Amino acid sequence: MTTFSVAVMPGDGIGKEVTPPALELVQEAANQCGVEISFTEIPAGAEFYAETGDAFPESHFQEAKAADAIFLSAMGHPDIRYPDGTEIGPQHDLRKRLQLYAGMRPCKTLPGLPLPLKDPRSNELDFVIVRESIEGLFAFPRGHELDDEEYAHNLMRISRTISDKLFNFSFKLAQQRQKKGKGKNLVTHIDKANVLSSQHRARQWFYGVAEQYPDVEASHQYVDFAALDLLRRPWVFDVMPTENQYGDILSDIAAGLMGGMGMAPSGEIGDTHAVFQPCHGSAPDIVGQGKANPTAMILSGKMMLEYLGEKHGCEGALLAAERLEAAVEAAYGTGNIVPFELGGCAGLKQISGAIANKLSGVI
Ligand code: ATP
Ligand code: MG
Repeated sequence: MTTFSVAVMPGDGIGKEVTPPALELVQEAANQCGVEISFTEIPAGAEFYAETGDAFPESHFQEAKAADAIFLSAMGHPDIRYPDGTEIGPQHDLRKRLQLYAGMRPCKTLPGLPLPLKDPRSNELDFVIVRESIEGLFAFPRGHELDDEEYAHNLMRISRTISDKLFNFSFKLAQQRQKKGKGKNLVTHIDKANVLSSQHRARQWFYGVAEQYPDVEASHQYVDFAALDLLRRPWVFDVMPTENQYGDILSDIAAGLMGGMGMAPSGEIGDTHAVFQPCHGSAPDIVGQGKANPTAMILSGKMMLEYLGEKHGCEGALLAAERLEAAVEAAYGTGNIVPFELGGCAGLKQISGAIANKLSGVI
């Protein structure tokens, strides 16, 4: 049996609630396909900072780094901050320190939900935002004070090295999706090249990389127009690489198209490491109420199985990813689970239970 080591960081708030069912389901799907996952829990985050004075000790970072993948839930708390007032977010440290430049944010709708928009031909949405995750407007999020009494600044910094990596990742992803019969063989660079010179350069670099992929169509769109299209005809998109903050905002729109933050998974991927986590935060407003939707965390686990399978050439892990996704689709396909976020009354237990039943073939 192939064994993978996974560092689990449950974090704060509803992160601690959605982690246990996700671990169970990922393990169950893996075991069904001859794969074992060895989970090691690593505490970090705002609540850990309140207890110990260190949100993410170096030894914890090293332990996470040594694993085959990192499975992280949500981190942060509005009332627990660093002395300078900034938010506690070890997930940002991981992105920077492990150079996780490609923030994969798939928007794939599930059946059985009352959703606002679907492709009239396929009756679903299926595209991926690839958010550049370590530079752009968030290259210097804190500790880089340029402000004075009259002005406040933030710098958008984009490097050719990371941009090239992001674009190569995006074109390869489009090829993979095409092979699986899912994609449109299209990569659309989302930018603001008409206003920002850094964005103009990013677009040039994008088309430079595109030349290496003559089989894939390369296109571009201004970010404001892309926002409009996401709310008008999102089915025109396939793979959308974009600057960090644009990706941050557009992926919340994409989460809305899937039914809410609790539905949206993500993977932060670099050349050597990867972190998988739901797009949502720690949601202090619903902690302890049983309302947290674990789907985003479970689907992030599915993405992690896929990554492990591809990286290590492990068929079992790829199969496990497919099984887990099929179980999620089958559970929602009944039409019986509508999460709180969508006006329904299915919470943590009902949703994870329905998925577990489908996975074990009980129903
Ligand atoms: P961040 O600062 O990281 O954005 P946040 O705490 O503001 O974190 P978001 O993820 O932005 O949380 O979510 C906004 C709101 O969406 C939450 O306050 C909560 O009401 C709802 N929400 C988020 N995640 C879930 C979930 N998994 N299940 C149900 N509702 C959720
Ligand atoms: Mg938020």
